[in-house]
Amino acid sequence: MATSTRQADALVDFDAVLASYDPALGLEVHVELNTNTKMFCGCPAVFGGEPNTQVCPTCLGLPGAMPVVNRKAVESAIRIGLALNCDIAEWCRFARKNYFYPDMPKNFQTSQYDEPIAFDGWMDVEVGGETVRVEIERAHMEEDTGKSLHVGGATGRIHGADYSLVDYNRAGIPLIEIVTRPIVGAGAKAPEIARAYVAQLRDLIVALAVSEARMDQGNLRADVNLSLAPKGSGVLGTRTETKNVNSFRSVERAVRYEMQRHAAILDGGGSILQETRHWHEDTGVTTSGREKSDADDYRYFPEPDLVPVAPSRDWVDELRGTLPENPTVKRTRLQAEWGFTDLEMRDTVGAGAFGLVEETVAAGCAPQAARKWWLTELARRANESGVDIADLGVSPATVAEVQALVEAGTINDKLARQVFDGLLAGEGTPAEIVAARGLEMVSDEGALGAAVDKAIADNPDVAQKIRDGKVAAAGALIGAVMKEMRGQADAGRVRELVLERLG
Ligand SMILES: [Zn+2]
Repeated sequence: MATSTRQADALVDFDAVLASYDPALGLEVHVELNTNTKMFCGCPAVFGGEPNTQVCPTCLGLPGAMPVVNRKAVESAIRIGLALNCDIAEWCRFARKNYFYPDMPKNFQTSQYDEPIAFDGWMDVEVGGETVRVEIERAHMEEDTGKSLHVGGATGRIHGADYSLVDYNRAGIPLIEIVTRPIVGAGAKAPEIARAYVAQLRDLIVALAVSEARMDQGNLRADVNLSLAPKGSGVLGTRTETKNVNSFRSVERAVRYEMQRHAAILDGGGSILQETRHWHEDTGVTTSGREKSDADDYRYFPEPDLVPVAPSRDWVDELRGTLPENPTVKRTRLQAEWGFTDLEMRDTVGAGAFGLVEETVAAGCAPQAARKWWLTELARRANESGVDIADLGVSPATVAEVQALVEAGTINDKLARQVFDGLLAGEGTPAEIVAARGLEMVSDEGALGAAVDKAIADNPDVAQKIRDGKVAAAGALIGAVMKEMRGQADAGRVRELVLERLG
């Protein structure tokens, strides 16, 4: 029945989970490629068209239609594989993965099975100043399904809906699925490692420019596999697979939740059902999906309508030459350029703000200022509204504009916070917000001087202390002036004026 009648899962305290169990993680990330056309036909592969306008007999699975492999998608797959330190297959085939889904008109998905294009790679992930090597089992090519829209229910899920609509525009869009080997020995860091892996993988995909890589638009979707085994047993427990977790933060939360849920079942003598789970962003829980099929149930067999893919070694070498700077190497280089300490850099990366700071600096902002805005003001607001910092809706170029206003003396740091309020409320550009909200600092020396004189007159005791040489007391007068000016004054200039008058 409806989710409202569902009993809340019993959960074990996180520390108690770790006292009794070892978690094993596995991550499957689907990357939607940004090719112009679909994986096996010439339909446009762009986001947001009118439903069912970007379709043809091939991606609708009509009888007799013949697929052709998209060369650009193979190229992207090889580049992703190389960037993940994988071997690239000399010869591989597509396979049919047979199952029924209303948004998959062929009744099979064209995927790869035992012959992936890329395999046996690794990626080094940094978590809290420590490097964890995540082994990549495979990266294979496949096609996306269409999209179902369930109308009339409260949750947008099929349950309780009056009817469903299907849009096949997405059917056949090229995907790369990247699968890790089980990540064991992570202990308490399992949730953070999962988050860091997905975040770093996204950085890599962005650097390769093979996908828009927007999690909120589903270009990058993470499935989180988790199992628990009795502590020290060295075995792998039964896993659950939480599907389509769509932000870095949710990846971390989903791992944590599943660890706590599994432990409660195991502690009670129960066993874990191998199943897929849905992640609920709003409540932070997972709910049961469908019982997970084993590979055997899909009756994979080689796709007879497609020729094998046999990338020449020359082509692979050529593509190796197009790889961007390794993100880890780049990080070390930029840390030196920016003059960040290890701790500052770690915090920046940990907050998911590395790329944002990089782009802000590229837009002309001083590195320390870029770091300050992203890691204080913007990180706090992202945290308050429960979104990833990259999805706040404030662009790096805009942050650079705010800092330019600070450096020009138009606003100070305190007023800049009000500009960020305005930006998040959609009030326009930083300059427009400063004008509309009347935030510009008072540079009129006459008005400032009058406020200083008033503060001195109102606080004769303080003024006398300063005259007697206790310069530290100036803070109280500066505070009074800033209050009088509603914060819209340059505190440094106010200090000069106070000391001039009393010095
Ligand atoms: Zn098509």
